[in-house]
Amino acid sequence: MISNKKYVSQFALMGTIISITLFENRPQVVFAIFRYLQRVEHQFSANNQQSELMQINQNAGHQPVMVSATVFNLIKYAVRFSRQHSNSFNIAVGPLVKLWHVGFADQHVPKDIEIKKRLQLVDINAIKLNETKKTIYLEYPGMELDLGAIAKGYFADQIGELLRDFKIKDAIIDLGGNVVTFGINRLVDNKLWQIGIQDPQQSRGVILGRVQSSACSAVTSGIGERNFNINGRFYHHIISPQTGYPLENDVTQVTIFSKSSLQGELLSTIAFFAGSVEGLQLIEAKKDAAAVFVTRTGEIKTTNNLDFEAIV
Ligand code: FAD
Ligand code: MG
Repeated sequence: MISNKKYVSQFALMGTIISITLFENRPQVVFAIFRYLQRVEHQFSANNQQSELMQINQNAGHQPVMVSATVFNLIKYAVRFSRQHSNSFNIAVGPLVKLWHVGFADQHVPKDIEIKKRLQLVDINAIKLNETKKTIYLEYPGMELDLGAIAKGYFADQIGELLRDFKIKDAIIDLGGNVVTFGINRLVDNKLWQIGIQDPQQSRGVILGRVQSSACSAVTSGIGERNFNINGRFYHHIISPQTGYPLENDVTQVTIFSKSSLQGELLSTIAFFAGSVEGLQLIEAKKDAAAVFVTRTGEIKTTNNLDFEAIV
């Protein structure tokens, strides 16, 4: 029965905490979401040698690998987008992500020569897709695909389909950096959702403001969590495909509000790379997206089409 009570379930997957909020006690729906995420983690993880993605990577320079339609289609989509934005969003950046390994126990500042070597492997045109055979081939040994900047957005949209199949109208899905609200917020009079924007300087859950919105996706690309400091220098996980180093610009975090979470993922990364001034213009020019930027000096900048309230 639909109620004004919320039922929150949490579990750890994909290096983060997943949180599912429903307004009905439907453990079988939560279980179906859990099973779905377990399955796709096994297909798309860059941290599991058995995953389909890692089969492609391990066979780089060796042979094409046949993959499932799901994996093929997401990689095809990501390759097309990477070709258009290869200096920012580029899924061939895997060798550098693995080299720095920010957020993992072996994170470190690599030697410049190592970075230069791996940069040569970041070649989006060396990813060969065979639509008929559903195979993917990386032409040079050492090449690696990384879907960390896009996969969770795709999963979130697919969970939306799953909720529709179960006839669930109202829900919040939080995949850690990707939040999607569905239907209406039964707990408040105006039925709108309040989405908190993480304060990148504070621990997880401390917010710097709120956006009020009808059902939408909110995707954050940020460097407030996956980072480390060495000798007074700050390093993080968003790597420039041009330099091989963590991107240096004026942004700490950007949150994109959009209908599709996949679109939000793509926009959050390219807006991050564009910086707060150009990035804001880029999102402002889109009819179906809005953004909140937080700069390295702590300034908050939002697009005009957003109901944002800062917490002072
Ligand atoms: P986003 O800003 O959306 O993306 C940043 C991520 O994209 C980086 O972490 C990197 O993976 C990649 N990237 C970096 N630079 C670029 C670039 N220029 N272009 C394109 N992509 C880039 N984390 C763990 O700690 N342990 C795990 O076991 C684990 N398993 C995962 C399994 C799956 C299937 C997925 C999707 C993620 C997993 N993660 C895991 C998290 C992953 O390592 C990334 O850190 C995470 O996806 C980053 O998401 P984000 O929303 O914070 O950042
Ligand atoms: Mg992203």
